[in-house]
Amino acid sequence: MKSEPIVYVGLGSNLDNPIHQVKQALLALDALPQTYLKRQSALYRSKPLGPQNQPDYINAVAMLITGLLPLDLLDMMQTIENKQGRIRTAQRWGARTLDLDLLLYDNQKLQHPRLTLPHPGLSNRAFVLYPLYDIAPDLILPDGKKLSVMCQSVENDLSIL
Ligand code: ATP
Ligand code: CA
Ligand code: CA
Repeated sequence: MKSEPIVYVGLGSNLDNPIHQVKQALLALDALPQTYLKRQSALYRSKPLGPQNQPDYINAVAMLITGLLPLDLLDMMQTIENKQGRIRTAQRWGARTLDLDLLLYDNQKLQHPRLTLPHPGLSNRAFVLYPLYDIAPDLILPDGKKLSVMCQSVENDLSIL
């Protein structure tokens, strides 16, 4: 029997009680159909990307086991964002109650108008790499790179909660 896909999701929030938003989103991911939350990282605090006139972020990474296809999972992640009050503005990397990024879906590589896999920000963002390392220290990316080696090339400027 083929095992179900392992998926990693990056969570971020910097509005409206970010710690609560991230914890709530972990519960919502675990409650998705054909899906359960296998592991979750610690919560971290990070400086915002882009505009600096916004609060710090709370970040975490979740490992899910899912029977959902990638685009169906993305749809459901966006529904969770919307339910938790995400308002989409024109400003790139503006403040938000919740951001859920699909970091990895098994070993898949994908270039689709709505979904790039692995997530393009994965390799240079400390707030993704370090929480991911918490829950998957031996991970090897679809391009063959080791997560542990990738972490060494990005400064860890996070604080752990
Ligand atoms: P970044 O993607 O650089 O972290 P962001 O999270 O602020 O920026 P969003 O506004 O949340 O970007 O998403 C914009 C679009 O990115 C989404 O509508 C979605 O279709 C697309 N997208 C492409 N690849 C992914 C992915 N791997 N995970 C989540 N969204 C993705
Ligand atoms: Ca993001
Ligand atoms: Ca996003």
